[in-house]
Amino acid sequence: MSKAKQQPILIVGFQCRLDTIREEAVATIMNAVAEHKVIGTFYQNLGEHYRLDNEGKEYDSSPAVVTHNDSFGTYGGYKAATVYELFFDKQSRLRCTLNGEAGEDFDEPIEHIQTEGLLRIVEWLVEHGFVADDPWRCEACGSLAVQAKIWVDANTHKIMTSAQNRSEHYCSDCCANVYLIRQSELLRNIRRWFDTAPAHALAYLSGYRPEDYADETLFRGACLEYWETLSINKKITVWDESK
Ligand SMILES: [Zn+2]
Repeated sequence: MSKAKQQPILIVGFQCRLDTIREEAVATIMNAVAEHKVIGTFYQNLGEHYRLDNEGKEYDSSPAVVTHNDSFGTYGGYKAATVYELFFDKQSRLRCTLNGEAGEDFDEPIEHIQTEGLLRIVEWLVEHGFVADDPWRCEACGSLAVQAKIWVDANTHKIMTSAQNRSEHYCSDCCANVYLIRQSELLRNIRRWFDTAPAHALAYLSGYRPEDYADETLFRGACLEYWETLSINKKITVWDESK
């Protein structure tokens, strides 16, 4: 009877962290594709498969990935290819249509894509607005320099207990325990602050003068137009400094 090969704990730890990254990346891709059923990443098709006899507009930079499949006749079963499409097959399995060097199309399960390729696909989805980049920020000042106290397995670094309470979260800019908030939620809060800010505060931040407008609604409308031209970080800085 053959004995199963025991992996060194060092490798188990690496694999554990890689598995966490892969699971998160695959879940992110699945959520994006679930909304549209089909996302074209080479041709700009959405919701339906592309057809070679009716090739549409192309994206400038499609993700290139390495996939692994033992049935490939390549060295080690690895193959580099361009991702043409992400879709769920009839068994609801997430697949990508890949286009190889020789121009052939083939559909591979997402699990066959190597980790760096998964990250490249997620990056592409973010760049094209299919996935939101929605980091945690400090609720009090909007900083990204926030930490969470967690317990990890000392060998594998697998997270055993996540932070739950305010006392387990910390902002390096506030130098205090704080609540964390998703960037999208913080921006909604800031928008509510903007909508109720007094006219003199809006005049100060926009440089516009209320007396130049027929009424306050028009003045506020002009200030809002200016506000929407600001970057996310600028909006957060203005809001934070106004307190
Ligand atoms: Zn803070």
